[in-house]
Amino acid sequence: MPSSTVPEYAFAAPFTHPPTSPIRRLAPYANRPGTISMAGGYPAQELFDVAGLNAAAANVGTRLVDCLQYSNIEGQASLRHALARLSAQRGISCDPDTELAVTGGSQQALALLSRVMLQPGDVAFVESPGFPNSAQTMRHTGATVLTVPSGPEGVDVEALARMAAIHKPKLVSVVATFSNPCGATLTREKRLRLLEVAVEHRFLLVEDDPYGELRFSGAAVPPIIALATGEARQWTAYISSMSKTMAPGLRIGWMIAPAEVRRRCTGAKAADDMACSAWIQEIVAQYLADGHYDQHVPRIRAAYGARCAALGDALRTHMGDEITFLQPQGGMFCWARLTGAIDSTRLLPHAIEHEIVYVPGNAFYSDPAQADAQAMRLSFATMNEAQITEGIVRLRRALRACEAN
Ligand code: PMP
Repeated sequence: MPSSTVPEYAFAAPFTHPPTSPIRRLAPYANRPGTISMAGGYPAQELFDVAGLNAAAANVGTRLVDCLQYSNIEGQASLRHALARLSAQRGISCDPDTELAVTGGSQQALALLSRVMLQPGDVAFVESPGFPNSAQTMRHTGATVLTVPSGPEGVDVEALARMAAIHKPKLVSVVATFSNPCGATLTREKRLRLLEVAVEHRFLLVEDDPYGELRFSGAAVPPIIALATGEARQWTAYISSMSKTMAPGLRIGWMIAPAEVRRRCTGAKAADDMACSAWIQEIVAQYLADGHYDQHVPRIRAAYGARCAALGDALRTHMGDEITFLQPQGGMFCWARLTGAIDSTRLLPHAIEHEIVYVPGNAFYSDPAQADAQAMRLSFATMNEAQITEGIVRLRRALRACEAN
């Protein structure tokens, strides 16, 4: 007989409280028919290259039986070499046999790096505001995770340097290009300075780069690891993902890390899940080899560029000086701030009533004391231009309704 009382499980400290996610709590509203959702961090589903993936899958054909066996923990050789070539297009050189590993999205890459570097008593840094799951996976190790101020221009590198001198972190994770939630990109100078700080304080600098390839305007800035020479390279890791460019359901990402670090991460992965699906890996490798990826990415870039332009136009036209924002040059997100007396959490119920949903900025701060109550994250990836324009018209109506209340 199931008991109606919950036993007093002695959960491990990071899991004492069940996980809550303000973003996930919005899902029922965001998914209501008729609602325009700018809340999710989801790529546009109608842009998934189903035909290309099917063609690639058909080409895997004769190798299928091998793919159904247990496979290499570090990833299929075909995919590791293909990802090394893709990384080389981003300016990164690496040895696919010793420095690169395939992971279950970039989330698993960060989880593995956290696990091999951190234990209770250690310190790690993340950006604030930042992607909540990054801090969460680090906290699961029992380490203390401190937040470094970030914003529309990216992480405050000098604040990070000052904090590093005091707290001696072992791992620091940043999103240097089109960050989540701010859409921010760090300048080349700040990237070089970050490398200097990593070497000086001897922490592993992890650049999480799921969005870098989604640039639709402005000049590209090389990934941090591409700027790392000599000793700096030993303190740098790069993680990226096929989630935003191909599809998150593939669960394919990768890490490039010093060989000694990668070796330990694959050991941790063996204990986790044995390997990513070899079948999916071969499909992705084939997709890259057949040139589908190189044709597909410009299509999403163009679509997101048009959607982002529509968002910027709509905000300027319909919200005027009631909202401030920086026009993103890539990625999926725009960080906007209400300038009046109403904050984004107070506005949200009215927005839901007017069938427009966004994520209030405070969802991206683990320390509520640091939260920017005026901010909101608007995703321009999932809705088309007409929906985005209509969404901002609704947002203005919601603001008027909130003021009248
Ligand atoms: N890092 C950042 C900054 C993200 O925004 C996301 C996805 N929203 C991830 C990592 C996780 O992505 P993946 O699907 O590759 O695990």
